[in-house]
Amino acid sequence: MKDIARFIAGFERFQIKYFQDEQSLFSRLRHSQQPRVLVISCCDSRVDPAMLTDADPGDLFVIRNVANLVPPYVHEIEAPGIRAALEFAVKSLEVEHIIVLGHSNCGGIQALMKGEGITQNQYEFIGRWVSIARHARERVLRELPQKPLALQERACEQAAILLSLENLLSFPWISERVDNNSLALHGWYFDIVSGELLSYSAETAGFEPLISAPGSET
Ligand SMILES: [Zn+2]
Repeated sequence: MKDIARFIAGFERFQIKYFQDEQSLFSRLRHSQQPRVLVISCCDSRVDPAMLTDADPGDLFVIRNVANLVPPYVHEIEAPGIRAALEFAVKSLEVEHIIVLGHSNCGGIQALMKGEGITQNQYEFIGRWVSIARHARERVLRELPQKPLALQERACEQAAILLSLENLLSFPWISERVDNNSLALHGWYFDIVSGELLSYSAETAGFEPLISAPGSET
């Protein structure tokens, strides 16, 4: 129960910060939300989009799932939850940016790289879910055979982000908005070890630092 007491105390601080006067942020937010950004991130406790970007309540509309995956518009895995959240963010909130936020040391991608066997082990659902990104796994195994597993996992974490971006474009009401420049898609990668935030660059066809690691020269 000590853990829970800590979070209740945390909520108390939140309440003081946001609800102590009438001019607080929530006096506006109580009527509606107008986030301009949708973030799709992993459930991982180390990769909280609002904490990572120092965002306020109301800034980010967030979808979280294992390995920050987006299934294509039509796919054998139904995942109505993510499709409904996407639809609301795009059609109703009219977000202007969608960020797929992946990260290093991702347990979901590690499960994917282990292959189908995982479904026969202790898990019932994870193998099937992460199989949404099976093409990313296949690509990594094809392009980086014989490489150390850690390197393959990192490559797969990044390839899965690109696959999710591609899958986002299979939703007609997303590709239409991207085509008319009312919506932009971004692939971000948080490196838990170095503390760097990388972004996919179409120019270099790779992930480049948006901001360098603390203490680095650049
Ligand atoms: Zn993860």
